[in-house]
Amino acid sequence: MTGGPLHLDDDALAACVSCGLCLPHCPTYRVTGREIASPRGRITAMREVEWHDAPVDASFRAAMEECVGCRGCEAACPSGVPFGSLMEHTRAALGPPPSWRRRVAEFVAYVVVLPRHRLLLACTWFVALAARLRLVPRRFGLGRISRRPLDVAVGGEPDAWLFTGCVMDAWLRDTHRAAADVMRATGARIARPGPGGDCCGALHLHAGREAEARRLAARALAAMPGTAPIVVDSAGCGAWLAEHSPRVRDFAQWCVEVGVPPLRATGTTVVVQDPCHLRHVQKAHGAVRELLAGAYSCAETGDDGLCCGAGGAYSALQPGLSGAIRDRKVAALREAAGSAPLVVASANPGCMMHLRGAGVDARHPAELIAAALAGPARTDERTDDR
Ligand code: SF4
Ligand code: SF4
Repeated sequence: MTGGPLHLDDDALAACVSCGLCLPHCPTYRVTGREIASPRGRITAMREVEWHDAPVDASFRAAMEECVGCRGCEAACPSGVPFGSLMEHTRAALGPPPSWRRRVAEFVAYVVVLPRHRLLLACTWFVALAARLRLVPRRFGLGRISRRPLDVAVGGEPDAWLFTGCVMDAWLRDTHRAAADVMRATGARIARPGPGGDCCGALHLHAGREAEARRLAARALAAMPGTAPIVVDSAGCGAWLAEHSPRVRDFAQWCVEVGVPPLRATGTTVVVQDPCHLRHVQKAHGAVRELLAGAYSCAETGDDGLCCGAGGAYSALQPGLSGAIRDRKVAALREAAGSAPLVVASANPGCMMHLRGAGVDARHPAELIAAALAGPARTDERTDDR
């Protein structure tokens, strides 16, 4: 650990040899071409603050806040620079944002609402109504919310837990419904966590609120006791929870390990979009393809898994950059689909909603697999109004 204001690991900071091999994998560098918007530029700025007493000023804060946190650079780095950890610690050391409006908004979001599930659900109805009245920009991809409760037992001693989370349970409950259908079709007895097992803190971590994130992750895991696997259908939540428990499995990973019943060949081509936390952190993106291949033809983008620009609250806080990154992604998805209608498989709720905000038909692998379960053709139960 250095004695500098960011409290970064000296060896981690020194590991970067400035080779630039990470630059093509950085979405903010790709859309801006600015060195300070690249991983190398951000590491240089961290060194200046940590080792050479440079001020933690507005430009430094902006450089750190413009990072999507995708960790594409970390996966590409031949020197093993742990960029994700450097950025998490830097954001934690930056402390609250200077704007009092943003401080209040973050306090309400992260401290008051997200950890209290009933309050989150109530706020969700309010925001959904505002979206229906066109008071929320369409770029956020907010659809209708499901009124039906999720038909999965709470607690007990299941064969597998389905982690339902906070925002995802509020906005994408039909995705959980599809995941539960597929999990039950394997013969597994499933359950979801009881009180305290909702918010895992992944969004808090992304916002630099590391201590709260750790507390919430411990609380969520305590609500799913025993040895049964914890199945997570949100790549961002799964990546964070997997840091705390070896029982955590991404939905597709678990399905491939357990084996799903025979699927109907749909004749549909889906373009696979790899959420960064599935590809770069959990490294479970291969399982998505393996699972989908039972019913779909999978097409690949030519951008080597570049981020879509969703990134926690990034699309709200950095709308310009986020939109530019998404434009690149959508172009790559359309190119991969060719003349076929564009259907995208995305295993992360944030990416799904972000892509839907650009008019893309993005679906979770659980929805795609549930629709392909053999037997009578299923009615599409999604209730969003895209
Ligand atoms: S982070 Fe890694 S890939 Fe990027 S410039 Fe430094 S050493 Fe090279
Ligand atoms: S985490 Fe993503 S956005 Fe941030 S520097 Fe690395 S590649 Fe760029």
